[in-house]
Amino acid sequence: MAAITLRGLTKDYPGGVRALDALDLSIADGEFFALLGPSGCGKTTLLRTVAGLENASKGTIQIGPDDVSRLPPGRRDVGMVFQDYALFPHMTVADNIAYPLRIKKVDRAARLKAAAGVAAALGLDGLLARRPAELSGGQQQRVALARAMAARPRVFLLDEPLSNLDARLRLEARTFLKKLQRELGVTTVFVTHDQAEALAMADRMAVMQDGRIRQIGTPAEVFRRPASVFVASFIGSTPMNLVPGEVRGDVLVAAGTVLPVPEEARGVLADGQEVVYGVRPEYLDFSETPLDGAFSGRVAVVENLGSASLVTLEVEGVLLHVVVGEGEEPRPGRSGWILPRPGRALVYRDGELVNGGDVTVTV
Ligand code: ATP
Repeated sequence: MAAITLRGLTKDYPGGVRALDALDLSIADGEFFALLGPSGCGKTTLLRTVAGLENASKGTIQIGPDDVSRLPPGRRDVGMVFQDYALFPHMTVADNIAYPLRIKKVDRAARLKAAAGVAAALGLDGLLARRPAELSGGQQQRVALARAMAARPRVFLLDEPLSNLDARLRLEARTFLKKLQRELGVTTVFVTHDQAEALAMADRMAVMQDGRIRQIGTPAEVFRRPASVFVASFIGSTPMNLVPGEVRGDVLVAAGTVLPVPEEARGVLADGQEVVYGVRPEYLDFSETPLDGAFSGRVAVVENLGSASLVTLEVEGVLLHVVVGEGEEPRPGRSGWILPRPGRALVYRDGELVNGGDVTVTV
């Protein structure tokens, strides 16, 4: 087990594509770390470069005390699980799991014994003689994990390992993987483009854009205080309300509503400054009677989320979203007022969070 430290990591592909741009990142020993970001932001390249499957153009990669930047993949002591699992179709489950030990020249009896042990830990005992084609997607995923575990690497690198599973199996596999990582305590970097998955599973996460890290933090920090409009619009199952507004003296006007400037942003913003006022639908209270200092408008749509509903309110031509509890749904067409809860409103200037005292940002 080991920490991972990346310094100034840059990866240029032929044709002028800079997939990683002088990236710095420290992942603690034993941490479950998620890399999140839109397609093409460099997540897979980051993982493959740490694994040694791609050569860095610049920068260093340290695993534990060792600088592995120039080592071949086999000597970096990492276990990688790919999106498509990359199992050998002609080999049995037992031989697939034992494969990394074969590469390490462990004798057959010892490696099959080790494979059986890992397989048992992952609930694959009865399947050792089967071939990958005879397994379900979830079982194949476990075989791929077992194979990565068999050599007892210091680090796991998982590239969208849940994306081939259907929604229900995905949830099960998510819990399974998190529990397994806790038990093994192996430093794990997990790539996903699914923000809900990253929020649910990670100890900490990084949000990437264009080969750079835009924010690092715990899921709670990133959810509550996205460091930029980009992160804010990327995180959350229901998108954050992001309303263009303007500072006017001590107050802020957005969607025709006069709002107090959030405490931490007071005194920082110039009169006339254009800003974006951000508040999550979960952090607003809805009322069918007037509330002081609230956005007021007309209920346009009510969507059932299961145990809650998402209400869309049209305020001066702007659509705002608020989550209301079961039984509190208004009828479309009615008037409604929504009020941000204390301390929950965020202000962005030039796309960056202004009232973000406790946000860790790397740009
Ligand atoms: P996705 O979520 O779609 O898998 P990603 O965040 O993992 O995306 P990468 O696969 O790391 O993104 O790609 C980062 C950038 O590098 C993209 O612009 C991609 O087109 C480019 N790229 C990736 N591999 C190569 C390659 N072998 N040659 C040239 N460009 C590449």
